[in-house]
Amino acid sequence: MFIEAAREIRPGEELTYDYAYRREGGADEDREERYASTRDLLRELQALRGQVRALLAAAVRRRTLPRAAVAAVNRAVAAAPAVAQLEADELVYHYNASPPDAFLADIATSAITLVGGPRRDLLRRCAAPGCGRFFVASRPRQTWCGPSCGNRARLARFHQRRRAA
Ligand SMILES: [Zn+2]
Repeated sequence: MFIEAAREIRPGEELTYDYAYRREGGADEDREERYASTRDLLRELQALRGQVRALLAAAVRRRTLPRAAVAAVNRAVAAAPAVAQLEADELVYHYNASPPDAFLADIATSAITLVGGPRRDLLRRCAAPGCGRFFVASRPRQTWCGPSCGNRARLARFHQRRRAA
């Protein structure tokens, strides 16, 4: 989920996030809550995004995690205390906070879980030209985030070989 949130977010763009499933009670269960991104939330989001990217970049290169980034994700999570619940067969976090804080905490929680958990070794940065996205590999030797990046990278290599020949 944080990989989704790590995309570029432009000022004034509407952020859509599904909080409904985190809410108690039935009627609102599937309602998608929309709110316009204020400049403040945008700034906070971009700052957190930068810290998350720094964490991921360090984890991918097997480097020591940057202290400021660790502090930033921990701070974001602490601002929105959550209760983990098992609902049907899914792990769901119920945040005790306003939507912006819960949103930031959710991104930070994803980052913490990923970088601090067993999937850290499967974390990769896509090697395809023009991509560079972070992803969790489904196979140990996977180097591209998806089939289209794999095709683009193979094509680029093919043209390179032809030029060299
Ligand atoms: Zn890619």
